Amino acid sequence: MAERACSRSIPRSPEELYEGYVFDLDGTIYLGEELLPGAKRLILKLRELGKRVIFLSNNPTKDPEMYAQKLSGLGLPTPPEEIVNTVVTMTRWLLENHPDAVVFPISEEPLKKSLREAGIRISEDPEEIDIVIASYDRTFEYKKLQIAFDAIWYYKRARLVTTNPDRYCPFPGGRGEPDAAAIVAAIEACTGAKCEVNVGKPDPVMLKTIMDMLGLEARECVMTGDRLYTEIKMAKGAGMPSAVVLTGETTVADLENEPEENHPDYVLERVDQLVPAHLREEFGWADA
Ligand SMILES: [Mg+2]
Repeated sequence: MAERACSRSIPRSPEELYEGYVFDLDGTIYLGEELLPGAKRLILKLRELGKRVIFLSNNPTKDPEMYAQKLSGLGLPTPPEEIVNTVVTMTRWLLENHPDAVVFPISEEPLKKSLREAGIRISEDPEEIDIVIASYDRTFEYKKLQIAFDAIWYYKRARLVTTNPDRYCPFPGGRGEPDAAAIVAAIEACTGAKCEVNVGKPDPVMLKTIMDMLGLEARECVMTGDRLYTEIKMAKGAGMPSAVVLTGETTVADLENEPEENHPDYVLERVDQLVPAHLREEFGWADA
């Protein structure tokens, strides 16, 4: 019998291993500048067992290399290929769905660089822009809004999409920065257009991109995160098993108050409980 967490009887741990493991980062693998308990040995063990590991982020202001460096700096050596942020998902979404489109990214350098490297044409000429990509852009200015406005409203040719739906990006200590939703709202307000696509959490597009990359089906993977309304919601939308870890935002009380249809398949007190109990015993992980 599996151990149960909270009164709604959600199992604490999977009974078997999966082929693919998708992880949120902050609150799941690290908190601020420290790896969370069990994260390092879990990831090393999964790789050793030949499982596929992917780390997710909605933030399009960083390259996968920057996340790989951060994880490596925290003591968990990680290749950039294991990182999928919205720079990666937007680039792959365009290649898959609109490979010939001319795009105008309202973004910082990492997204532009990735689009250029993928051979996607970037333009600031509203007469030839097919897709305006709104994102988290700390270099946003009136000129960019004007180009988007002209391409969407005046020339009536461009569609609006976004990297991620976040209203703000929280910082440790309570401050934060306006995120991509603010740029989307500015463009929607002046053009009357509606943003059509979001390639970040909680849209299942993000997980579908990962399944394509890994060549795995949803049921062969498990999504682990600390937020019910992003990672768990996305996993449910993609038909992927999911685990919430209680080292970040979600508490046991949150789970009790959440309608059952939003519940994850597993509730972990620490992330290395993703490994089934009989294997933890075999590995000598008595503290997990
Ligand atoms: Mg998180």
